[in-house]
Amino acid sequence: MVSKDDEYDYLFKVVLIGDSGVGKSNLLSRFTRNEFNLESKSTIGVEFATRSIQVDGKTIKAQIWDTAGQERYRAITSAYYRGAVGALLVYDIAKHLTYENVERWLKELRDHADQNIVIMLVGNKSDLRHLRAVPTDEARAFAEKNSLSFIETSALDSTNVEAAFQQILTEIYRIVSQKQIRNEGGDDPSPSHENIRPINIPPTDNSDRNKKPCCQT
Ligand code: GDP
Ligand code: MG
Repeated sequence: MVSKDDEYDYLFKVVLIGDSGVGKSNLLSRFTRNEFNLESKSTIGVEFATRSIQVDGKTIKAQIWDTAGQERYRAITSAYYRGAVGALLVYDIAKHLTYENVERWLKELRDHADQNIVIMLVGNKSDLRHLRAVPTDEARAFAEKNSLSFIETSALDSTNVEAAFQQILTEIYRIVSQKQIRNEGGDDPSPSHENIRPINIPPTDNSDRNKKPCCQT
């Protein structure tokens, strides 16, 4: 029996990147299991977790990859980025350095990921209002300048976690389904076209009028 979990219309790989300690693993556990962990466990070692959502009546299965702490050593391999159609680039709104390093992560994406990857800048830990070090407007302006989506989240109190994933997956879905429409309009040699043979219709000739119609023999 095929479990319901395996029925989906699209499977999208999305990677989590950003400095160590910004809350990547907790964003993932909040979204996929509705769990939060106060201790920082850098070596949870989960490769990825999945969750399906609905967009436009389609089931989108998100396969979200988390680092197992390699970001500490800048040792993320290109296998991590392979096939990824989206990236959540996370910083901590209470740690300015993690925001400054966003530039580095963008370069990392340019070097290792598909050039059409959809990137969302995520300012996490929005619950730490009293410790805020990165103004929302500044981050939003930076995101606009670099053509990134932008959102602030809190994995701790759940603010915008659903919204962040929903937004990036919807964006990816729109791009992918638009591409499909374009491909269907072109000279796509899809199997369904192979059975179509040109039909030869002979010109109507008056001298044939007394002959039997072709197809009633
Ligand atoms: P990662 O290294 O990017 O995977 O970060 P983790 O998910 O391991 O989180 C690092 C630390 O930040 C942990 O102690 C978490 O409990 C804490 N943390 C994660 N998200 C939030 C958040 O939204 N708000 C607050 N206040 N703490 C968070
Ligand atoms: Mg982690």
